[in-house]
Amino acid sequence: MKKILFASSEIHPFIKTGGLADVAGSLPKALAELSQDVRVILPNYPSLKTTEDVHFISSVRVNNQQANILETRLPDSQVRVWLVDCPELFDTDGNPYVDAQGNPWENIADRFTFFSRIIVEVAMNRAHLDWQPDVVHCNDWQTGLVPALLSIESNTPATVFTIHNMAYQGIFPESTFANLNLPRQLWHPDGIEFHDMLSFIKGGLAYANRITTVSPTYALEIQTPEFGYGLEGLLSHKYNILSGIINGMDLDQWNPETDRAISEPYSIETLEHKVINKTSLQARSSLPVNKSVPLFGLISRLVEQKGIDLLLDCLNEMVEMPLQLVLLGSGDKSVEKKLMNFARLYPKKISVTIGYDEALAHQIEAGIDIFLMPSRFEPCGLNQLYSQRYGTIPIVRETGGLADTIEDALPKSLANNTATGVSFKEASAGALLEAIKRTLLLYNDKKTWKKMQKTAMSKDFSWKNSAAQYLELYEQI
Ligand code: ADP
Repeated sequence: MKKILFASSEIHPFIKTGGLADVAGSLPKALAELSQDVRVILPNYPSLKTTEDVHFISSVRVNNQQANILETRLPDSQVRVWLVDCPELFDTDGNPYVDAQGNPWENIADRFTFFSRIIVEVAMNRAHLDWQPDVVHCNDWQTGLVPALLSIESNTPATVFTIHNMAYQGIFPESTFANLNLPRQLWHPDGIEFHDMLSFIKGGLAYANRITTVSPTYALEIQTPEFGYGLEGLLSHKYNILSGIINGMDLDQWNPETDRAISEPYSIETLEHKVINKTSLQARSSLPVNKSVPLFGLISRLVEQKGIDLLLDCLNEMVEMPLQLVLLGSGDKSVEKKLMNFARLYPKKISVTIGYDEALAHQIEAGIDIFLMPSRFEPCGLNQLYSQRYGTIPIVRETGGLADTIEDALPKSLANNTATGVSFKEASAGALLEAIKRTLLLYNDKKTWKKMQKTAMSKDFSWKNSAAQYLELYEQI
């Protein structure tokens, strides 16, 4: 049995801004189910939503600042969560990283340096918790300083650093390094210095015993200039300790058999009921109700990463085709406006909802035939996993986790029943349009389509699978 300290700046259902929270809420539970002793550590933000008992267990002082450690549990589990309580640093409402205007909190570097220092105290068994982990598993730049700080201690636990998105690195001016009172010996180009700036993510990349990211393809991509944001050199130098493990998905929340948000539950055996969800979605979206017209959908943050511009460039041609489109998302205001304009011009073809709507997201996954995910980059991606479970065929760009989780419908994969989607390589509207046309041909071949749906629905995207791979990694170090 391994003792694992899992460190994250966000954990679902306590606090969430993105995919990291889902991983941090699920992976520790899956590791506990594999009989591992795993504890989770998170800052105590005032907006934290806890459901279980929260109580004080110890207090720690580092760098002239005190924190109380509070203990609670991950819901529906025995996994202990340690909350680092320091109101001077964390007492702000809302998002852990930015204010209401989207600007990073002024004390953001102090926040996560202090959090990292407390993690080090816990890791070294100096926090009066009477427990020392074998492995500290750090996630993203907010905990990047942990492997760096542990590198100057002796008899330390091993460290794993997971990258959830290379686009966020925690870069600050050199003056911040001085103000944080960090050990001088970490300041060099092979350490946490990055072109005369302080880089938190480098603390993880340069010092951790193992580096992982959330898909094998993304692990390769980040070693290239297009995806590495200047760190591709360091990452390719570390290739022998760098690997990719696909995230699992929440099989209870996203289950077409028990989903309460959808009109009619269905399974692989009752796939014919999926169409009831399609007609209700069409009705709800004010589109003509028509069982046979191919219904496309997209649920996404409307940002450059997601390749929405590629879709925008296809829409003029798509509206000439026999299809309908349901879109849900929010983000870039100019993209929102362009999509709304299309919906106004073609109300019988396109329905657009701007905002964040969990229930509608479920209804779309259940109701549509084809999910669009033309991402420019995608470390793992979740919607293509949900789609497959709901018998909805995804069209994806062949990048990152999309490349690793979708089997393109080609003659060979169709013949041996492994095809689950359609993928395209080039990040261009032309390539996306070709993929859409290819999908429409498949859709019209009812037998093939049903086979693909069933193959997709039988795939295993459980956390159990991914947790076993993390455990193997912990055992290696
Ligand atoms: P990312 O984490 O980069 O946004 P993922 O595909 O990994 O992309 O995960 C996105 C998650 O957020 C999915 O669960 C998706 O359904 C959800 N989501 C994104 N936008 C919306 C929205 N407007 N309404 C409801 N859910 C959304």
